[in-house]
Amino acid sequence: MKLISTNPSTGEEIGSVESTTPAEIDKIVAKAKQAQNNWAKMPLQKRITAVESFVKVSEGRRDEIAELIARETGRTIESSYGNVDGGFRYFRAYCSQAEKYLAPTIFNKTTEMRHEPHGVVAAICPWNYPFMNVAWQCGQALIAGNAIVYKNSELNPMFAKLLAELVAQSDLPDGIFSVIFGDGKIGEYLARSDVDMISFTGSSATGRKLAAIAGEKLIPIAAELGGSAPLIIFEDFEIDDEFFEYIWQRRFKVTGQACDAVKRLIVHKSKFNEVVTRLAKLIAKKKVGDAMDETVDMGPLISLKQLEKLEAQVFDAVKKGAKVICGGARPASLANGGGQFYEPTLLANISRDMKVWREETFGPVLPVVSFDTEDEAIDLANDTEYGLNAHVFTNDAAKFARAADQIKVGMIGQNYASIWDPELPFGGAKSSGLGRTHGATGWAEVTEIKVVARS
Ligand code: NAD
Repeated sequence: MKLISTNPSTGEEIGSVESTTPAEIDKIVAKAKQAQNNWAKMPLQKRITAVESFVKVSEGRRDEIAELIARETGRTIESSYGNVDGGFRYFRAYCSQAEKYLAPTIFNKTTEMRHEPHGVVAAICPWNYPFMNVAWQCGQALIAGNAIVYKNSELNPMFAKLLAELVAQSDLPDGIFSVIFGDGKIGEYLARSDVDMISFTGSSATGRKLAAIAGEKLIPIAAELGGSAPLIIFEDFEIDDEFFEYIWQRRFKVTGQACDAVKRLIVHKSKFNEVVTRLAKLIAKKKVGDAMDETVDMGPLISLKQLEKLEAQVFDAVKKGAKVICGGARPASLANGGGQFYEPTLLANISRDMKVWREETFGPVLPVVSFDTEDEAIDLANDTEYGLNAHVFTNDAAKFARAADQIKVGMIGQNYASIWDPELPFGGAKSSGLGRTHGATGWAEVTEIKVVARS
């Protein structure tokens, strides 16, 4: 079967790749098993040097990678460069963390705890953070001595093809990092094959299926899944232009298709009208269009299917009484270009039974609700099956501390504080995932503990 890559900004075909067959996957996994044995025996510094060579090769082709990401996924060219540079940053951070986290933990004079690789890791990735996902899902696992069989989404096969070239150009030994191509069925075949761990990023629905497979096989799984992050604005927070730009970035970058994007805006009633009016004004200044155009602020959605799903969510909201403050349609000016565009959209008069509230909205749509009391704000924030991250805007330290205690998420930040760092565990509670990447917890995910006691 051929996987055809199309540019979501124009509808033009970029290229195609032949899907990997099940028989080929079996061979690739068997080869990875053999190669992993030697890889794990290599001194850590040698593995780090090989991973660094992959980063160097990729840095040399930075423009090519970023441009392909923009053309194939519709991330703006600026954010595509951000994705590539972010990947380099995480790879380099893992290389410098490794010695500290992979060293045996000494229990007493005769007993130590070792951190050994699992074996072959099936890295099943989405399309939205292409290069960053390579770093996040493969970086720590590789350095720790695992081999990788990598599959990304059928929606960006050309990126996977380029990745295979980068690996081949690097000093990573043959069989240590294999790239396969295919859709969900191929992903499932890989997960059921002779792999020793599943590292998955994608939707919660797929995450559940893969967790069931990992359960049957009794192998570990790390799963970074969907999110519906709330952003609460309390009455004491002074809103300024920086705040609205922050919301734009956090909701509308990657055309709203980010797991940790702000997906529900929860505003104190005293500020509700001001927030809605000023946010709509900012949105009106933003330009939607071809992701390769440097003047564009927001590109298209990844696929027609995703666009139609988003439209159905907005339609459901409007039918149940939501008010469209701005957007709510495909932009008329781009109707004939072949791209899958949707206007950045703000919705008010939200009720809790609406799909835009209950489900993950994977697109540029932001429902805004008001609250009166702190308890109400926290209840609204927790009213979701997801628990990836949350933002709380208040200068009242005690109020933030109460919110941080009560909102059930993997990551929560006050005002502009960042929750993204290679040393900080990234991941979610509830339906947002299992396990964490980065830092100590990330190394723990990709290794098996072995207690060794000498007499
Ligand atoms: P998806 O679940 O449709 O696909 C992800 C990957 O899984 C793809 O490679 C796909 O081919 C594969 N896949 C699909 N069905 C499969 C199956 N039955 N068995 C094995 N593999 C299968 O997700 P998507 O649309 O590519 O990505 C969007 C989702 O990913 C959103 O929900 C988003 O929130 C989430 N996401 C989460 C994070 C995070 O770190 N938490 C990061 C990025 C994206």
